[in-house]
Amino acid sequence: MTVLERFSLTNKVAIVTGGRRGIGKAIALALAEAGADLAICDYINDGEVETTAGEIRKLGRKCLALTTDVSQSQQVQDMTNKVIAEYSKIDILVNNAGISPATPIIQDLSEADWDKVLDINLKGCYLCCKSAIKYMMEKRSGSIINIASIEGLGAVRRASSPYAASKSGVTLLTRGLAWDLGKFNIRVNAIAPGYIKTEMTRGMWDIKSPAFQETYKQLLQRFSIQTTLEPVAVQNLLMTDRIPMARYGEVSEIAAAALFLASDAASYITGTTLTVDGGFLA
Ligand code: NDP
Repeated sequence: MTVLERFSLTNKVAIVTGGRRGIGKAIALALAEAGADLAICDYINDGEVETTAGEIRKLGRKCLALTTDVSQSQQVQDMTNKVIAEYSKIDILVNNAGISPATPIIQDLSEADWDKVLDINLKGCYLCCKSAIKYMMEKRSGSIINIASIEGLGAVRRASSPYAASKSGVTLLTRGLAWDLGKFNIRVNAIAPGYIKTEMTRGMWDIKSPAFQETYKQLLQRFSIQTTLEPVAVQNLLMTDRIPMARYGEVSEIAAAALFLASDAASYITGTTLTVDGGFLA
């Protein structure tokens, strides 16, 4: 087998959670391009999951479009059952579904807000792993990729402590599972993206969006800046100050890392967290 052939996912079956848009969609399309049949799930059934599934089918691959809230164990079990009924196996699981709401400091943070972030980002990852692993163990083969974050590795910003805690948990869950599942030839790795241009981060990169205008206003207030800088200048300053590569990342750059970890090209890699962050943590 040539080194390029090791990247092929022909005859593999992959689940990507939160696959209707953003990073999840890019990963699902990349895995399909490499030959895998897919199941994508999202918890809102507004037709967009089906639209993404249609794009995957146009690549000549099969794709199930499912409605699943990853924080609900019964829904996760139903998702797995449907995948097994359709494909009879699971080779790759990408735990991508996640939320990153702005949250207040701890005195004002409600238990419900804390639970929601932890339930989707961390418990959801656990539930999906638990459900899929059974089928990977039977075949003694599998690759799990958990989408963590640089914010779970120490690059924490304001108003994000539950998010940072959840993603830190994802990183350590990854390492723990790698220990438990290595003997079954199941590899478990994480990707820690830096700041990637998606809906989640629109307030950072889309200077025309209300979310960016709010970020900009808060920044000027926080540093008592009187002069009005052009928003684009503020954005450029923030990026070049914090990101060695001086730009935000693209979803395709996370998808390429996921393809590598999913494939046999990464056959001796488990328990690692691959940062894809333009050097943010360098
Ligand atoms: P998006 O908000 O664009 O996509 C997240 C996806 O997850 C959406 O499709 C969303 O559905 C889905 N989702 C949310 N909650 C659930 C749930 N309970 N069950 C099933 N699906 C759910 O964000 P990104 O693509 O940017 O983020 C993808 C992952 O990458 C997340 O885990 C995020 O934390 C992580 N990440 C992103 C970074 C970035 O810079 N963008 C940086 C570091 C990590 P819906 O659209 O219906 O809300």
